[in-house]
Amino acid sequence: MKTSILAVGTELLFGQTVNTNAAYLSDKLNHMGFDVMYHFVVGDNPQRLKDKLKEAFRDTDLVLLTGGLGPTQDDLTKEMVAEVMGAEMYLDERALSDLKELFRKRGGDMAENNLKQAYLPVGCTPFYNASGTAPGFALSKDGKTAVCFPGPPREMKWLFENGVREYLEQFMDKKMYYRVIRTIGIGESDLEMLLMPLIDGQTDPTIATYAKEGECTLRVASQRDTIDEARQAVDEMIGRIDKLAGEYIYSYDDEELNEVVVKILKEKGLHIASAESCTAGMFPAAITDVAGASEVLSSAYITYSNESKINEINVDAGIIDRYGVVSPQVAEAMAIGTKARSGADIAVTITGYAGPEADPGHEAGEAYIGYAMWDKVGHYAIHTSRPIRNWNRRYFTLRMLRAVYLLIR
Ligand code: ATP
Repeated sequence: MKTSILAVGTELLFGQTVNTNAAYLSDKLNHMGFDVMYHFVVGDNPQRLKDKLKEAFRDTDLVLLTGGLGPTQDDLTKEMVAEVMGAEMYLDERALSDLKELFRKRGGDMAENNLKQAYLPVGCTPFYNASGTAPGFALSKDGKTAVCFPGPPREMKWLFENGVREYLEQFMDKKMYYRVIRTIGIGESDLEMLLMPLIDGQTDPTIATYAKEGECTLRVASQRDTIDEARQAVDEMIGRIDKLAGEYIYSYDDEELNEVVVKILKEKGLHIASAESCTAGMFPAAITDVAGASEVLSSAYITYSNESKINEINVDAGIIDRYGVVSPQVAEAMAIGTKARSGADIAVTITGYAGPEADPGHEAGEAYIGYAMWDKVGHYAIHTSRPIRNWNRRYFTLRMLRAVYLLIR
């Protein structure tokens, strides 16, 4: 079903509030199988609101509106939707008693203008709001439906999950099933090229690629008459994707890389240690973000200076002198020293330039990841060519996780 989202609020146009409601609803609707075709934003202006709503109805059949359901004079969404759709307003008894109850619990009197929030368009489906004062509602006419939510994101989400989602299911004649595959080590365009034989001309299941920081995600979705048929179609397609791009896939169920790494380490009963310069603790932070990290993480060294590399993890000063501190040789020496020092099964290390500056002869974004596992020692070279310090640090951390993942998978 063709859908658009119309966010109402002058603060959105001023840039004071980010339109997170549209992002949230788009994501939810997309996952349910609606075609979200437009996002509109309009200020608290009655004429422009009506114009945009008419435009949205011209091009799409379902319009979700957020904001402007409050008690004040400039909250006009409800009235304008009713006007465009030719509905009168009525005082909804349940909305009124909910409001009175809320004010009673808060221990204050209900202001006269709050009464406005208990009025709804005749013929609508109300969505009573236990998370705030303004009820939402859906109103249909001539095959077009408007669904109105209050602006505060917490209330909007609550209503979506408690009523609206179920209401919207009536518009889906097919059942939707999807899975999200996570990949690392390949850019979005390369991944798309690799999967072109599957993507090209494919209508169901659909394969959509999304690039995230340093990663790429694939969403494989199918809409069929039954959920079992949709599931089978998706699983078959994943089998074909696996044959073409399996080496880059680390999760078939939308898990984060740190979660997958901890899960495998646990399953295999392996312990890990790390030593970092430029990421300074981000690797163990990522590991300890996952519950049960204590079963797998043995030690984490932050060896920022040359001295700490020499003193804490036994890196030979001669290697630093000969090859420079940001070098594959030092990354590997760090891994050997860390493994010996910690007694862990696996050591992963990093030495690099997060930027924006780098020493002469080097550039920001150059880093070396060292690893040691049993008697296997090696390194990965990274050149992001980006002088953006925090981007590099996050990317390096992801690459450390990937180095571990490739060792243990
Ligand atoms: P209220 O009953 O609180 O007045 P309302 O339906 O009138 O709700 P608005 O007054 O438009 O909603 O917005 C209330 C608050 O919700 C805003 O101050 C803003 O912080 C937040 N908000 C509104 N619209 C959005 C949006 N599209 N995305 C994120 N936050 C929003």
